[in-house]
This record gives sequence, C-alpha cells and structure tokens, in this order.
Amino acid sequence: MFRALIIDQNEERKQSCTLSNLEESQLPEGDVLVQVNYSTLNYKDALAITGKGRIARSYPMVPGIDLVGKVLQSDSDRFQSGDLVLLNGFGVGEMHWGGLAEKARLKSDWLIPLPAGIDAKQSMAIGTAGYTAMLSVLALEKQGVTPASGEILVTGANGGVGSYAIRLLNRLGYKVVASTGRMAESDYLKSLGADEVIDRNTLSEPGKPLQKERWAAVVDCVGSHTLANACASTKYGGVVTACGLAQGLDFPASVAPFILRGVKLIGIDSVMRPLADRIEAWQRLSELLQAEDFDVISKEITLDEAADTASALLDGKVRGRVIVAF
Ligand code: NAP
Repeated sequence: MFRALIIDQNEERKQSCTLSNLEESQLPEGDVLVQVNYSTLNYKDALAITGKGRIARSYPMVPGIDLVGKVLQSDSDRFQSGDLVLLNGFGVGEMHWGGLAEKARLKSDWLIPLPAGIDAKQSMAIGTAGYTAMLSVLALEKQGVTPASGEILVTGANGGVGSYAIRLLNRLGYKVVASTGRMAESDYLKSLGADEVIDRNTLSEPGKPLQKERWAAVVDCVGSHTLANACASTKYGGVVTACGLAQGLDFPASVAPFILRGVKLIGIDSVMRPLADRIEAWQRLSELLQAEDFDVISKEITLDEAADTASALLDGKVRGRVIVAF
C-alpha cells in the first residue's frame, strides 16, 4: 500500500480531493516504476486540487506535475533500478497520474536523469516553476537580450516562476524590476536580486496601446492587462515572454507594439518541451543556482498539508515554491 492524493468527481460533476491508500496494481501503465521522494505544488496543481481550474482530464486522477524519485523497476534501456529521475509536465498530473503520491508508474520518455550538481530536494525546490523561469531567460538570451540592453520587468514576482526569474536574471547580471501585489515582500524580492520593486496595480488596469518605452525585456507570469501593458511599454526591438495567466487568460492588447516598435512576444510552454530543451534548461539551472537559493525560495510541507496549501497558494498567500516531501 502507498499513499496518494486522489482527485475524483461525483455524478453532479462536483470534484473532491482525498488522501487515499492505493495498491501498486492500481497505478496506470508505464515502463518505469518510481518511488517518489519529493513533489511540488505549482499554480496548476493548486487549480487541480481545489477544483478551481479544470486540470484533471480524467478521473480518478493523482495531481502533481513535478516529481523526483528513485527507479524501483524499469523495462526501459535508459534507466535502471536505483537511478534518480526527474519529471516535469508531459501531461503528468493532468492526463496521467502524477507526483503527489508515494509511487508513480511513468513512461521513460518523460524522465530525465537528475542533473549533476543538484540533489533530489533541490530539484523540486526548482520544479516546473524554476524550469519555466529558466526557459523564459533562455528565450531572452536567444533573442539577443544582454545585461547592457536595459531593465527587465518580471511580473508575478512573489510566485515560483517570478522568484526564480529574478534570481536567475540577477545571477546573469541583468537589472531587474519586480512587479508585485505584495509590496510588503519587497525585502524578499530585493534579496533575490530585484533592483526595484513596483506595485502591480501600475500594470493591471487597461492602458494605452503604446506607452513610454521602458523595458528591454519582460518575463510575464500573469497575462491579461498586465501582459498588454508590458508589451505597450517595451522598448523598440524588445522581447516579452509570456508563460502565465495568474491575472487572466485574456490578452486585451493592440498590435501597435509589434508593428510599430518591432516588439517580439515569445510564448513559453514547459509541458511538452522536447527532452533536449529540458536538459539544456536543467543544466543551466544547476550551474546558476547555489545552495543558499533553495532555502530562501522554497518551503517544505507534507502530503497531508497539500490541500490546505493549495488553497492558500491560489489566495496569493504563498511566497516562492512549495516542496512536498514523502
Ligand atoms: P504562483 O506561485 O501562484 O505565483 C503567481 C503569482 O502571480 C502570485 O504569487 C502573484 O504574485 C501573482 N498574481 C496572482 N494573482 C494575480 C492577479 N490577479 N493579478 C496579477 N498578479 C497576480 O504561480 P507560479 O507557479 O509562479 O506560476 C505563475 C504562472 O505561470 C501561473 O499562471 C502558471 O499557471 C503559469 N505557468 C505556466 C507554465 C507554462 O508551461 N507555460 C509553467 C509554469 C507556470 P505577487 O503576489 O508578487 O503579485
């Protein structure tokens, strides 16, 4: 028997989430069986657990889009029992049972070896949020944005993606401006490397299609009017990455920044990203982050605390990353 968080739906399509005991035989198909050591709580997991977003595509579902653990059994040539493996996304925790369980049976194509230089717990302190922040920073680099280009705006600064984006950009020498609804957390954001902290209200209301040029680049985690205003105030030829929807899924913008200032809008998807991109991102994360970063950005909870913490996360009461330890 092992413990797992199970999301289910009744006949009235009302969703429930309970901590249950399962048998290994109940696990879905896959060629690798993993003893999960750590998982995490991302925004998407919180939507799944609380039922506030339709993340589970079938029921019952074990949530958890990230996991790290030890291979118990493998029918794949790529992995052997005892290997430490890492997984982010690929629909796990949405279409296939995920990481918020003591065991998971998975497809080997979804797994990468734990990168050298970080341990299992540190990899989950990073999780999908840190990996998405790295993909966003890599996108800026690939578009030629350098520290000499000017200020980089990071929105949703206190969240997992925002916190890591600030830390990584600061390590690379960029000047970072953090936008937040929690100005009381300014000291935390500055400790991560924000040079300036601004109130997210300055970006979250409808604005003009073209505004004063300020940002060399933007890492946006919140979408909606914030993303529209960020594009409208990006400098000529600047780059905006969009990965999130914490304010909204809408994008109430005009084409003016793109056709008059040559602003580039780059979409960031972490879920179906090919293995080569994942390995590159994790390699850079292991090079850029230091042991002290993980304690500052993350906190640890148990599986029993996951449901309550998911509600707090959606209420904007959680700072940085949440690791779930087994
Ligand atoms: P998180 O830890 O919950 O952080 C989200 C942050 O957004 C909050 O901490 C808050 O920051 C800000 N925020 C919340 N509500 C807001 C609102 N109404 N208006 C403006 N800002 C608001 O989530 P996360 O894990 O960092 O993820 C951030 C976003 O990226 C989510 O939408 C998530 O779904 C998305 N995401 C996408 C991918 C991908 O593959 N594309 C991967 C990972 C995450 P402040 O308190 O500092 O304002």
